[in-house]
Amino acid sequence: MTALDADGALALELDRAHVFHSWSAQGALQPLVVAGASGCEVALADGRTLLDFSSQLVNTNIGHQHPRVTAAIAEQAGRLATVAPSHAVLPRGRAAEAILRHAPASFSKVFFTNGGADANENAIRMARLVTGRDKVLSAYRSYHGNTGAAVVATGDWRRVPNEYARGHVHHFGPYLYRSEFWATTPEEECERALRHLARVVEAEGPGSIAAILLETVPGTAGVLVPPPGYLAGVRAIADRHGILLVLDEVMAGFGRTGSWFAFEQHDVVPDLVTFAKGVNSGYVPAGGVLMSDAVARAFDDRVYPGGLTYSGHPLAMAAVVATIEAMEDEKVVENAARIGAEVLAPGLAALADAHPSVGEVRGTGVFWALELVTSRATREPVGPAAMGAVKAGLLDRGLLPFVQDNRIHVVPPCVVTDAQVARALAAYDAVLSELD
Ligand code: PLP
Repeated sequence: MTALDADGALALELDRAHVFHSWSAQGALQPLVVAGASGCEVALADGRTLLDFSSQLVNTNIGHQHPRVTAAIAEQAGRLATVAPSHAVLPRGRAAEAILRHAPASFSKVFFTNGGADANENAIRMARLVTGRDKVLSAYRSYHGNTGAAVVATGDWRRVPNEYARGHVHHFGPYLYRSEFWATTPEEECERALRHLARVVEAEGPGSIAAILLETVPGTAGVLVPPPGYLAGVRAIADRHGILLVLDEVMAGFGRTGSWFAFEQHDVVPDLVTFAKGVNSGYVPAGGVLMSDAVARAFDDRVYPGGLTYSGHPLAMAAVVATIEAMEDEKVVENAARIGAEVLAPGLAALADAHPSVGEVRGTGVFWALELVTSRATREPVGPAAMGAVKAGLLDRGLLPFVQDNRIHVVPPCVVTDAQVARALAAYDAVLSELD
């Protein structure tokens, strides 16, 4: 290992002296200075190269520095980089068209934002405007972003007191491993979670509820893939009461689960879908709301969601078009599905067989979590000190991991290869051996 180069040392010094980091970055702040990246690898200023099994914040779906995307951004920057959202600009229409190519036929419009939180913010506002109702139901163990309505919709990390969360109501979603419902099978968990949701809807007054907002697969809370039938059941409850179903695919969308949208695997079509991250692989900030034709038509000249100076920015839109086209041509979603089914599923199951500290493995595509416990009998979560050692051990073995609470999230770019997964599995295996 070589010492930090001069740029790296300066980057670290300036960052520490002058950058006010968000809570999540503080928690993760390591003396890692990233000098460059390519594909699934991140190069550090001290000369090390790490295999990126974090996809940064689970956004780099087509990998780092994809030449087609960087070229498209450069080309657009040379042509037109600044324009107000009120003017038409070619890459924006093309980006919407590219997204809609992969959406069910009932969707007709895309509203662009700058990221995931403001996508949810706008979806909530749209649902309230369209239904004329106020309340929003969302799940505990969810993450929807850190702005006003998105953070109060967030179930886990509620950092705002309840008085700021008026109109937001939480319910428990399915999570069989730590069931709130004393369920022992996925079928029981599904049925009881739906009964619980129906009771919450009744208690709140169905006529006052604008939307049920859910992550299709809650990601930050631990890749909680819902049991078969759950989302279709939520859809039925929503339909019964004229409530809109909003699915947050900010993390799950654009290939991560092995399909373009995760809801495709759950036999459900929502009214609104929020997205960000993977839509352009995180190269330029972008997000948005995919709107069903029925919702889009309900808007007229009198009601409108919030627009922002930079939403639909030409550079971001050029990156969206190039990302989606590259994913189509290179069969990136198919790769995520194959790697998930043929390499990660058996590889992670083997780790669970070999290591008693693995309580549960769950996931799909390139979206997995290993939940670590001190005892399988009690399911006691592994504590922060041991998880810190897990993270350090993975870094030492050349892996850039995503470690959250008592979990290792296994979230490489969708372009990951069999050989790279094999390297990661070996690193997990070695670190888990130290933990058992
Ligand atoms: N929704 C989900 C499901 C997310 O995972 C995230 C970010 O991790 C967000 C929303 C917020 O997105 P952003 O960080 O772009 O605001």
